[in-house]
Amino acid sequence: MPPTPARVTAVDTYDIRFPTSRELDGSDAMNPDPDYSAAYVVLRTDADADGGPEGHGFVFTIGRGNDVQVAAIDALRAQVTGRSVDALCADPGALYRDLTGDSQLRWLGPEKGVMHMAIGAVVNAVWDLAAQRAGKPLWRLLADADPEWLVHQTDFRYLTDALTPGEALELLRRGRDGAGERTARLLERGYPAYTTSPGWLGYGDDKLARLAARAVADGFTQIKLKVGADLADDVRRCRVARSVVGPGVRIAVDANQRWDVAEAIRWVRALAEFQPYWIEEPTSPDDVLGHAAIREAVAPVRVATGEHVQNRVVFKQLLQAGALDVLQIDAARVGGVNENLAILLLAAKFGVPVCPHAGGVGLCELVQHLAMFDYVALSGTTEDRVVEYVDHLHEHFTDPVVVRDGHYTAPTAPGFSATMRPESVAEYTYPGGTFWAADAETRRGHAV
Ligand SMILES: [Mg+2]
Repeated sequence: MPPTPARVTAVDTYDIRFPTSRELDGSDAMNPDPDYSAAYVVLRTDADADGGPEGHGFVFTIGRGNDVQVAAIDALRAQVTGRSVDALCADPGALYRDLTGDSQLRWLGPEKGVMHMAIGAVVNAVWDLAAQRAGKPLWRLLADADPEWLVHQTDFRYLTDALTPGEALELLRRGRDGAGERTARLLERGYPAYTTSPGWLGYGDDKLARLAARAVADGFTQIKLKVGADLADDVRRCRVARSVVGPGVRIAVDANQRWDVAEAIRWVRALAEFQPYWIEEPTSPDDVLGHAAIREAVAPVRVATGEHVQNRVVFKQLLQAGALDVLQIDAARVGGVNENLAILLLAAKFGVPVCPHAGGVGLCELVQHLAMFDYVALSGTTEDRVVEYVDHLHEHFTDPVVVRDGHYTAPTAPGFSATMRPESVAEYTYPGGTFWAADAETRRGHAV
């Protein structure tokens, strides 16, 4: 009897939280005390018993509300359970379209916020499963794929006034020229990274200076500082950083949406003497025209945004309005790989460099694959392109990123690098994992 084709048997979800707020790691002007968290999903199949792969994905959140994000993933369970694994992996875009088009869940967006991010986690888990079954890291599965198939995987809905499937096909076909050489170069050298580790707002000047010096010694040519809470502090911190790294290292600054438009312009001009390379998230991520006004006023400082841009439609408008110089995709904000393909293609069409957002929990692990695909098979260059790197929480993943001499080493293990270590899941599941249970016990002891 031939074996029964594998199906998805379970969609397991986990609320995982790390107590990062205690060290002020990750602190910025809008988020002073994040507990970096993951709403984590595992697609189990009936091939698991034979050692077949599972699909892993997650949404990054910063603490409270991670349970809401998990509930949103749970709401998708019935649509995924029972599906053929072969069919899912052959065409992840079919699931993406079914989930984003769900006639009732769609009301909760459409295509934005908690429900959309939940879809992204499930869709990314399918891509993880597909890449594992293909025996390739995801970047390579995408770079080796037929351009026609990639176009079929891309969501062009609401985009065709700016990018048609025919134009995308042309971009992807052109991207194949020299892809073999670029793959070899990528495997040898890696993909350029920059580091945000020195620049958290909660760190004192000494720690900033020490970590900035270490970043340069470690081979980074760009660092990033959080700004936007207090101008005098920002001027002082930028001066400290510039004096440590010298004139040749780029310093990006990131306001995490802190300002109104006029305030953003004033503040960035006040920091201009330190030559900031880009200002990131100067204002609301929804304010397309505001970004355009800021960009015009603060040039030559570049305007960067994207980590909170909710979908491809807003990216389209940012590009159409000439509102940004640097486009920052995030692997876990939009509807997964399929929507990020659309965003990468839009950026290529408009000639805007993509410098992905990362950090958080596992965002570096995921987004490196998209940047590497972009280099090998779409943009064809790493010039003025860097992937964010933060040296936190990688130890919780089975295939953590490796950054050497300021470059992400290309992953070679099959999949999307999304699998968390079972020990970490057991320890940091909230509130019942061993860490949080012991923490609650300690708090009860103090209360007595
Ligand atoms: Mg940022």
